[in-house]
Amino acid sequence: VFQLSVPLNFLGSVYRDMNQALLDMETLFDVREHPVHIKDSPDAKPLQIKNGDIRFENVCFEYRPGVPILQNASFTIPGGTKAAFVGPSGSGKSTILRLLFRFYEPTSGKIYIDDQEIRSVTLSSLRQAVGVVPQETPLFNDTVGNNIRFGRLSATDAEVAEVANRAELDTLLRRLPDGLETTVGERGMMISGGERQRLAIARVLLKQAPIIFFDEATSALDTQTESILMDTINRNINKLGGTALFIAHRLRTVAETDKIFVLREGAVAEEGSHRELLANKNSLYSFMWKAQEVQQLAEEIELTEEEVI
Ligand code: ATP
Repeated sequence: VFQLSVPLNFLGSVYRDMNQALLDMETLFDVREHPVHIKDSPDAKPLQIKNGDIRFENVCFEYRPGVPILQNASFTIPGGTKAAFVGPSGSGKSTILRLLFRFYEPTSGKIYIDDQEIRSVTLSSLRQAVGVVPQETPLFNDTVGNNIRFGRLSATDAEVAEVANRAELDTLLRRLPDGLETTVGERGMMISGGERQRLAIARVLLKQAPIIFFDEATSALDTQTESILMDTINRNINKLGGTALFIAHRLRTVAETDKIFVLREGAVAEEGSHRELLANKNSLYSFMWKAQEVQQLAEEIELTEEEVI
């Protein structure tokens, strides 16, 4: 079981910079991958959030020259709605998140939040507006409470306790000898994959970002834990009224979202609600849905057999 997803020396430097006004928790989620040469343009202005609308316009992107990943990806997500990106592995779902966060720039095409091109706004205002629940939550060698506080360093203890409660971390907290004051990793303390994600949810709630991006864990969680977690997320999003984006591997987890974008070969191949997409029996979505239902059924049968034995 790992506790840290990022190198220790990197965390050390984060600790030294703790008193900076804004610590981008999210810059940690992808620290191994993104280049750091992206900077504010000289006339960058702070992003002004109105509704939290997101628009990708003919976005093309390649990590390596000649290997296109996104090819004219276009979509619009109205503020305050829930949208999901699904598609085969490697179709570019996480790349969309990285571009929205401006870890990378599109090769061509434009990305807008509330009609402001993200290239023209300050990085700090952009990253403050977007909260991320990553697949793997980096944890610091500090108390559980302080780990949550990375969502917003100025938060009071009461605010930290409140979001822990909303993220339904109570089972974990009851198990810990000193609750929120317990140090992560102390006395062999173990945190499960589901609890790590709850901690990430608490962090993101504390951040109070108008746009939230959830990157569904592929392997860390079993189906039941995942669906309980989704309930927690949905309850909180409805309260926040913000724009919520999901990267989903299990279609069941996002069947309730307002709009699903099916990515294929770097572009949006299909879009619609779960119901609309299923109505077309020949859609890629219908195919993926059937395949997952069969797989799910197989898993359930396997489970029942284990119980019988
Ligand atoms: P998954 O469902 O497996 O998480 P995804 O749809 O999120 O996949 P991306 O992570 O966006 O896919 O990756 C799209 C493609 O870009 C993949 O072929 C991947 O190998 C490639 N890729 C991702 N990151 C990099 C990188 N830093 N350098 C080069 N290629 C990359």
